[in-house]
Amino acid sequence: MSPAQVIKSGPPACPGVALTFDLCPVKKGSGYDTSLMDYLIEHRIPSTFFMSGKWITKHEEETDQLLGIGFFEVGTHGEVHAHLPMHSAEEQREEILGPVRILREHYAHHATLFRPPYGEYNDMTVDVVKELGLQFIQWNIESGDPDPTLSAEQILNRVTKRAKPGSIIVFHANGKGKQTRQVIERLTTDIFPHKGLTPMTVSDLLKCKQPAR
Ligand SMILES: [Zn+2]
Repeated sequence: MSPAQVIKSGPPACPGVALTFDLCPVKKGSGYDTSLMDYLIEHRIPSTFFMSGKWITKHEEETDQLLGIGFFEVGTHGEVHAHLPMHSAEEQREEILGPVRILREHYAHHATLFRPPYGEYNDMTVDVVKELGLQFIQWNIESGDPDPTLSAEQILNRVTKRAKPGSIIVFHANGKGKQTRQVIERLTTDIFPHKGLTPMTVSDLLKCKQPAR
């Protein structure tokens, strides 16, 4: 078995893409993009969420709801959204384990997917994640959706150009992405069908398993 790998994409032969949404804590606003979430739920779009511990604590009802949706998958995103490489192995372990524990103890959910805050990590992080038995999920397409200077069209172009079989794409569902809902709608109704790409959760993409309809 090779050392825990940092996963950035699924099998290139798989006609799927993973739409992933980080739920980083926010200081201002609701921290929940209702319009985006309603769209994903209404259209049954397989999606993967990475929840930070602080976000879960502030959104108990939403956490419960998302965990109950069969075509959604929930992983974790650190406790307080720390810059992991600035911390010792023990501190990294606590930051990574925080939301894993909350989900297990309060929601009976066994979260195995992990994405580091800011996508930042070092060798120590890789070792800690491996030791905790988690899967390290990065991305190969950064939508840039929290950037307030990008228009929906610019984000869409960026994702469209890069999207290919096996892509893992990062977005935000905490309200930081003002254009996210619009971009997701265009991708799922127009771009992906034209490219022959089907949205899948990260786990299904890695196994390349077509979602049950
Ligand atoms: Zn984040």
